[in-house]
Amino acid sequence: MTASGLVFFQSSVFAGREKKNRAERNIMGRAQQERNTDPAEIRKKTDEKYMRQALRQAKKAYDLEETPIGCVIVRDGKVIGRGYNRRNTDKDPLAHAEITAIKKASRKTGDWRLEECTLYVTLEPCQMCAGAIVQARVARVVVGCMNPKAGCAGSILNLLDMKEFNHQVQLETGVLEEECSMLMKTFFKELRMKQKMRKKSLAE
Ligand SMILES: [Zn+2]
Repeated sequence: MTASGLVFFQSSVFAGREKKNRAERNIMGRAQQERNTDPAEIRKKTDEKYMRQALRQAKKAYDLEETPIGCVIVRDGKVIGRGYNRRNTDKDPLAHAEITAIKKASRKTGDWRLEECTLYVTLEPCQMCAGAIVQARVARVVVGCMNPKAGCAGSILNLLDMKEFNHQVQLETGVLEEECSMLMKTFFKELRMKQKMRKKSLAE
């Protein structure tokens, strides 16, 4: 074998070995990905995906200068109801995000029972919404941030899990908590600033 022939032979052997290593790495990578099919990990990712959609609803309320709370209801991987807070806009104490989403989901499925549904809401439900969730027999509720002053999914009481009722709801809290609470904090900060400016302009 000539010198250049040897170099070619060595480099093609090297290329072949490199190809084999790459293939092995790919298999390893795939195995690693397959290992990430941990059900808890999948559930977390799914919950975050739909909470992001609930946040999108909350931003609609924010744009109307309403307390930014948003909700989506999911069944079999499909959003079947959406809602956001419109209490001031509609002059309606019942116009909470969850109530609107429940009504829409029931209309869509043609059934008042939402037994196979998961409800995602950016803020812990109040007593009215927690009550409606139990009434609609929602299977699971996923909450963004808690509401220590009015929440009825664990803060003041937990209406979702009372053995005295005929239905208990599975509960998950703290999904995209940071984003959900930041939206609320920004809203109230801006509201305080607007009120201060209004007061100032009235005094002048
Ligand atoms: Zn409510």
